[in-house]
Amino acid sequence: QKAEWAELLNEKTVSADGHQVKLVANIGTPNDVESVVNNGGEGVGLFRTEFFYMGRNELPTEEEQFESYKAVLERLDGKPVVVRTLDIGGDKELPYLNLPKEMNPFLGFRAIRLCLDKQDIFRTQLRALLRASSYGNLKIMFPMIATLDEYRQAKRIFEEEKQKLIGEGVPVSDDIEVGMMVEIPSTAVMADQFAKEVDFFSIGTNDLIQYTMAADRMNERVSYLYQPYSPAILRLVKMVIDAAHKEGKWAGMCGEMAGDEIAIPLLLGLGLDEFSMSATSILKARSQILQLSKKEMEDLAQTALQMSTTDEVIQTVKKTIQK
Ligand code: PEP
Ligand code: MG
Repeated sequence: QKAEWAELLNEKTVSADGHQVKLVANIGTPNDVESVVNNGGEGVGLFRTEFFYMGRNELPTEEEQFESYKAVLERLDGKPVVVRTLDIGGDKELPYLNLPKEMNPFLGFRAIRLCLDKQDIFRTQLRALLRASSYGNLKIMFPMIATLDEYRQAKRIFEEEKQKLIGEGVPVSDDIEVGMMVEIPSTAVMADQFAKEVDFFSIGTNDLIQYTMAADRMNERVSYLYQPYSPAILRLVKMVIDAAHKEGKWAGMCGEMAGDEIAIPLLLGLGLDEFSMSATSILKARSQILQLSKKEMEDLAQTALQMSTTDEVIQTVKKTIQK
């Protein structure tokens, strides 16, 4: 099986009936990029940037970040790289920021909320990204957006830094796509409105599931509620993809669900454009998609959306893909 996957290394990801999707990778440090290249990744769908800020006593400099972003973009050689701006908070703390303890860190002052408040941190990261943009195909997304107002503020700050750099004579790419993670249910519900303003969506199911089910993604005792194949989640995912397509935008997914064997047929059927997963899952996913018919998966997804429980969805998908 491994040998067969290796032959797919440089192949496109096309379903049995000719529908093409992109399989890209999640990375957490610049070193992970080798594995993306070696496993047939068509780009990076989520570059988590928290590592710059963690395990140290002070904020990373603009220069340090610039060098890393540049290295990743160059190594990917024109393939798309989606970098997510700082998503600190929740379970990931930064002691040197001296933030007050919170009762519910997952519902607290984190990610874009913190970045819009502590703008010096945000602007430094954006400048590093903008400077690196001329070395490859950079896309930027904001985590934990809950309202359109937050997205607009983040986008405005991005534009301000871009204009400043251009004014300083620094080369900046003029086609950086800017998008957002959809990981808070309010944004999935309002996706039609967001879709008019973003260049793309990336669905973060790790958080979207926890917030939709009100079940902490780290808590074993409520893990039975953590259900990626729940019709509730599938309906939200559908709303996001349809909203994007209606505005001519693309929709990806960078939560764990995107690389899951049961989820992939459903996501293909719902029309997901980009699947971002751990690099080592890419060839397996490609070999699976090559054998699926998009048309049949559309029917499967339609059926699943009308089901009432997660178990029914799982059983139906298993039956369909075993055929
Ligand atoms: C997600 O929430 O699905 C996601 C990809 O981000 P993280 O796992 O870093 O929260
Ligand atoms: Mg998340």
